[in-house]
Amino acid sequence: MDQQDFDEWGFDTLAVRAGQVRTAEGEHSEPIFPTSSFRFDSAAQAAARFGGSEAGNIYSRFTNPTVRTFEQRLAALEGGERCVATSAGMAAILSTCMGLLKSGDHIVSSRAIFGSTVVLFDNFMGRFGVQASYVPLTDLAAWEAAIRPNTRLLFVETPSNPLTEVADIRALADIAHRHGCLLAVDNCFCTPALQQPLKLGADIVIHSATKYIDGQGRCLGGAVVGSEALVGKEVFGFLRTAGPTMSPFNAWVFLKGLETLKLRMQAHSANALALALWLEQQPQVARVYYPGLSSHPQHELASRQQKGYGGIVAFEVKGGREQAWAVIDATRMLSITANLGDAKSTITHPATTTHGRLSPEQKSEAGIGEGLIRISVGLEEVDDIKADLARGLALI
Ligand SMILES: *Cc1c(COP(=O)(O)O)cnc(C)c1O
Repeated sequence: MDQQDFDEWGFDTLAVRAGQVRTAEGEHSEPIFPTSSFRFDSAAQAAARFGGSEAGNIYSRFTNPTVRTFEQRLAALEGGERCVATSAGMAAILSTCMGLLKSGDHIVSSRAIFGSTVVLFDNFMGRFGVQASYVPLTDLAAWEAAIRPNTRLLFVETPSNPLTEVADIRALADIAHRHGCLLAVDNCFCTPALQQPLKLGADIVIHSATKYIDGQGRCLGGAVVGSEALVGKEVFGFLRTAGPTMSPFNAWVFLKGLETLKLRMQAHSANALALALWLEQQPQVARVYYPGLSSHPQHELASRQQKGYGGIVAFEVKGGREQAWAVIDATRMLSITANLGDAKSTITHPATTTHGRLSPEQKSEAGIGEGLIRISVGLEEVDDIKADLARGLALI
């Protein structure tokens, strides 16, 4: 399998075949290599591997063939030189920070990011002298104004969770580069099937593979994709030393997930759009948040930047917590859980779960109302999802 083939193949072919190297057994599907270390032919070969004069496996904290196949496939799908796989999405964000930042550096981040990312930036990176400022995702002037002489990284998650606001990746990349900063995009909600941030100028793409890349809620994992210099050297340098590496079994599950990723993302997006259009018609619903709706403030940007609108829909019921909980508790099929990106639809009340730690002021600033419900729209029949919600809506 040489790099030339990669360059010629289209997305769908890469998703199925990139990165596979067959062993002497001639297996058709990708094998799993559950081995912590690798043996050498001689003491001289061991010395050459350790010394770096010969490429090859040494120990699975550094490299593993199954993990490498996953990394090469995801790198190919994102259009990046290099991918490193991590034990979870949060380990991907930590490894990016540890690889690329130092004490005294500053991060500018969109405000509406994954809750644990805020905790990582504020409570842990902060302890080591890295500070973060937060800006509204769509306000380009605020991004630029927040940049300081010591700002090194711009961090954005788009579309945002749960209100599906969309950031202009190309514009943010331009701002970052004008100020000598890097742009990292958490591409968890879109995946490369719908959005390729590196092609829009971003420097780093981060994934929680736990979500759509797995797609069936089985394994935790993450990834960082970017250039050889940033990801291959700096991020990998941290990872191989500190050890938040992906297990070979999880890599194999994610590898198989990548093969069907685009088909699943298209199906999630079609179901989500149908559900969002239906929700907009319901008299008990005050507002629906979905980038595929023409009522969405960044609908045009999402249409330009994304190949689909994704599987996350949020909506506000009239009333407040009591009404939202009534809709959630009336469901019989949807799973009440905060996970997302699963074939099974999930339903969440952000104000009391994923965003429960925020103060009332922070919630209202972030637009997380008590009537807000988030659905990660799965692959069931959309009419069954509507029926499951209609039961609760009729009660309020
Ligand atoms: C879940 C999630 C993460 C964290 O990933 P884990 O695999 O749970 O560590 C990061 N970013 C986003 C957008 C997520 O949804």
